[in-house]
Amino acid sequence: MLEGIRRALEGLLRGKEVEEAIKEIQKALILADVDIRTVKELTEKVKSRIFEERRRQPGIDPKRLAYKIIVEELVEVLGGRARPFPLIPQKIMLVGLYGSGKTTTAAKLGRWFAKRGFSVLLVGLDVHRPAAGEQLKQLASQGGLRVVVGEENPLEIAERALQEEADVYIFDTAGRSSVDRELMEELLELKKIIIPDKTLLVVPADAGKVAGREAEAFKEVGIDGVIVTRLDGSGKAGGALAACHRAGVPVYFVGTGEKIDDIEPFDAERLVSRILGIPDMGKLAEKIKPEMPERFDINAFHRQLLSLSASGPLEEILSLVGIKLGVEELRGAKERIKKYDAIYKSMTKQERAHPEIINESRIRRIARGSGTRPEDVRAFLRDYWRAKKLFDKLRRKRPRNIRQLMGWLR
Ligand code: GDP
Ligand code: MG
Repeated sequence: MLEGIRRALEGLLRGKEVEEAIKEIQKALILADVDIRTVKELTEKVKSRIFEERRRQPGIDPKRLAYKIIVEELVEVLGGRARPFPLIPQKIMLVGLYGSGKTTTAAKLGRWFAKRGFSVLLVGLDVHRPAAGEQLKQLASQGGLRVVVGEENPLEIAERALQEEADVYIFDTAGRSSVDRELMEELLELKKIIIPDKTLLVVPADAGKVAGREAEAFKEVGIDGVIVTRLDGSGKAGGALAACHRAGVPVYFVGTGEKIDDIEPFDAERLVSRILGIPDMGKLAEKIKPEMPERFDINAFHRQLLSLSASGPLEEILSLVGIKLGVEELRGAKERIKKYDAIYKSMTKQERAHPEIINESRIRRIARGSGTRPEDVRAFLRDYWRAKKLFDKLRRKRPRNIRQLMGWLR
């Protein structure tokens, strides 16, 4: 799916027709096992939004617009905004079918909490399979985690575990080859003893759209969310994620490998940025980095301004994330740059070195000297402090995703 979507979208920026790109994306989604209804709804939505936007802004570049809208709608279909998993002491119960990755995920999740400073206890409740306890013990020792397993009735093991001190308890339960009465009863009994804060369904990405049916079936035991495993090895991840979203259950984590650290909070936006290779936020940061002075002061701000010509780096950076400045906006920006240049030239050396000393009377003097209004000088200073904040942030860290970068630019 990933390749197909990336190709279709990159094609758009190189001049491919919107209709053709949409068809390619449909094909990629269907290959990823996203169900037909979702694909149809996505396409309709994309088309009507493109139509609507073009009506409102007739001058807009239709291909860039399509790019932006498709990216936004893909994020929406795959799960929308990430829901941060609460970092608090809690009891988590994992449920799911055989081989979905529960035991591995129990250890991964335990390690995830342990790394964040919580004391974790893993509890093995799968007594049907003799090797299950051994597997959990082994994983726990790899992750340096405490574990409770046993051969008695799972209800007794759960009770015994709850007597131990821990911040986060993670219960690994037995699976079945399909959802049946017996499994549901067993899980409901366990829930009465454990009283979990979160019950999470574990489904493998290879389930594709079937993940949605599983999520529906497990609603009977009350699930709060899903963990999708084996994202690394399946071409159907898109289908599984879309199906969970459709079923109305949030995907909190994804498993991305067999090792104990191969787990990450799920974020549809990050996944899509990765698919598109739009950075690789790294690429974006690289674009910005060479322009970055060692120390960001008013002189550096001034140099940045002068380099912001129509084809300057700002426009390039924005176009990388699919935004194109309109003619009006560009003209406005250029005029502003001219004013700011004059303001800069009317400032004393001392004011440039210590802009914090610029008070109202200095503002009036600078405005007179540069033939601008005091409001312009205030705007200059405001933009300077904003830019300084952004550059300091970019020097310290890379933006995690497009939304974060846009937030910083604001
Ligand atoms: P359970 O029956 O639900 O407890 O499933 P297991 O935890 O025993 O996992 C079944 C298989 O899936 C094991 O071979 C795991 O190593 C593998 N597995 C689990 N999660 C992932 C993952 O995120 N990526 C990959 N590649 N393999 C995984
Ligand atoms: Mg297991």
